[in-house]
Amino acid sequence: MSKKDYYELLGISKGAAEDDIKKAYRKMAMKYHPDRNPDDKAAEEKFKEISQAYEVLSNKEKKAAYDQYGHDAFSGGGNGGFGFDQGFSSAADFTDIFNDIFGGGFGQGKRGAKARASGVRGSDLRYDLKITLEEAFKGINAPIRYSTNVKCKGCNGSGSEGATKPVQCNTCGGVGRVRSQQGFFTIERTCHICNGEGELIQNKCKKCGGHGRTREEVNISVTVPKGIEDGYSIRVNGKGEAGVRGGGNGDLYAYISIAPHKFFTRKGADIYCKVPVRMILATLGGEIKVPTINGTHAKIKVPAGTQTGDKLRLKEKGMPHMNSTNRTGDMYIQVNVETPVNLTDKQKELLKKFEDECNNNSSPQCESFFKKVKSFWSDIRSN
Ligand SMILES: [Zn+2]
Ligand SMILES: [Zn+2]
Repeated sequence: MSKKDYYELLGISKGAAEDDIKKAYRKMAMKYHPDRNPDDKAAEEKFKEISQAYEVLSNKEKKAAYDQYGHDAFSGGGNGGFGFDQGFSSAADFTDIFNDIFGGGFGQGKRGAKARASGVRGSDLRYDLKITLEEAFKGINAPIRYSTNVKCKGCNGSGSEGATKPVQCNTCGGVGRVRSQQGFFTIERTCHICNGEGELIQNKCKKCGGHGRTREEVNISVTVPKGIEDGYSIRVNGKGEAGVRGGGNGDLYAYISIAPHKFFTRKGADIYCKVPVRMILATLGGEIKVPTINGTHAKIKVPAGTQTGDKLRLKEKGMPHMNSTNRTGDMYIQVNVETPVNLTDKQKELLKKFEDECNNNSSPQCESFFKKVKSFWSDIRSN
């Protein structure tokens, strides 16, 4: 490695302040960074030289040694030498020093100028999509409308008018972040000149004002599969906010909420329906007609002696299973036996006659319940 004077290399005078050393290095390093000068051996050599100079001058101990002994301070093994003639040999080694100072981001695979050029991905969006249970049963294509930032058609997202190209931000050197020293801490913050974009647009697109995006209303159709359940979300690829400077679009997530139904409640793929049944029909048995989720109806047999709370099953009259194309849930009729009201005198008369004909077998539940109550009372008395 060269033995050029470190101060000369950075274009500063001996005794320059810490900040001036940093500033000088920043300027030179930006100019000669290998990423900026691909396949340029001379630039790479220069980058190594200035980085080594900075490596020494930015370190208090090394700087003091250098100031006193010059290059001999680092000759290694020499008297008075510090022996830190570093093994740096490639520009890549110095890129780490460079990144340390500038907040990283130069060089491949790292955040920064190169990654920045490929843009920032747009945000994902959430859309609350209310559907009916019938729609969840059939599946639908739901048209939705929302406004978001889309790629500007005037500049195709570049932010620049016509063919003009953005220029690198000098303040942050295209990295988008700047660092400053405060006591022991190094504070890294977004460059306020370019707002972290690393580039400045010289000739702003008139349509978007240089943002590369415009706020537009978007109309799309969301495919809701049959059998979808409340609370699920459907991802629509690339329909979120547009990226910045060529970054990918975010996605749109349609969150499904299913409105309560007049008749039906749902548990997974099964549907429940509370149906009032006439007392006489529930007593003697018969058939009733019930609505079904497909918009038609079904007939179901009510066995003699059906009670309130009994469940009658209609096979495969429920919802499609969400993850299975050919399975369907069942429908359950929850019986609610209706006690007759608004009776005429004749009806009352008939029911009294009916009651006279009844025996203990007609109402076994009442019979057994009151037997239990009796024994409960006698137990209390005997205690
Ligand atoms: Zn534009
Ligand atoms: Zn900047």
